[in-house]
Amino acid sequence: MAYQFEPIAVVRSCFSEKFAIPRQPSLAPAASGVIELLPPYDQPEAVAGLEGVSHLWLLFVFHAAPSGPTHLRVRPPRLGGNQRIGVFASRSTHRPNPIGQSVVKLDGIEPGRLRISSIDLLDGTPILDIKPYVPYADSLPMASNSLADAAPILLAVDWAPAALQQARDQADRLCQPVVEVIEQCLAQDPKPAYQQPGTERRYGVRFWDLNVCWHYPQPDRICVLSIEQIL
Ligand code: SAM
Repeated sequence: MAYQFEPIAVVRSCFSEKFAIPRQPSLAPAASGVIELLPPYDQPEAVAGLEGVSHLWLLFVFHAAPSGPTHLRVRPPRLGGNQRIGVFASRSTHRPNPIGQSVVKLDGIEPGRLRISSIDLLDGTPILDIKPYVPYADSLPMASNSLADAAPILLAVDWAPAALQQARDQADRLCQPVVEVIEQCLAQDPKPAYQQPGTERRYGVRFWDLNVCWHYPQPDRICVLSIEQIL
């Protein structure tokens, strides 16, 4: 038996590529986006009542996950990339049905659009469903997960003076918290856990229409080197 679903919305987000997106939504509170509701769900009736809701569950398609056969065991980056666990014990994007779920903050309701933050969603992500977060049922203080028992340890993020000025200029142009998004996302250490980069190695990622370049002056420190608009 097969089931077919159509997206009800598309996310526009600060994350223009998968690299450096946090592994879970709550890790970068400044990371924001907009849910653009598709007809007929772009009508006020579809979101009536959400004024009283602070957070949403989003069910979405990992539309940019690699295609091909899924495996019963996966190697989560969080575990260093060399320990295999069952796909259903993981939040891997490469799964039998490429469906993701994230709790995000609802910042505003506009005609046909929901403004959200604390996201871990790539720009263009198709949304299958939106549901209100229900604290008494969805928050379980006694819950445990020995494979993911705490948020990642954060790296210190420093700025080359010119890069910080570039980020502030771009924040003014985009009207977005560019400095905070970069700091919160890079502090998660986006590089693969097995890499031990020398100080000369450069890393880069796109947020919005910006190329962000950094290096590791020490293994546990990042220094942002430049922010350039992609023209
Ligand atoms: N919170 C969701 C969940 O648990 O189902 C996603 C967790 S998944 C480990 C998070 C990663 O998914 C991000 O770091 C990003 O690289 C990737 N990602 C986000 N949106 C995606 C998309 N539309 N297609 C493919 N990968 C995506």
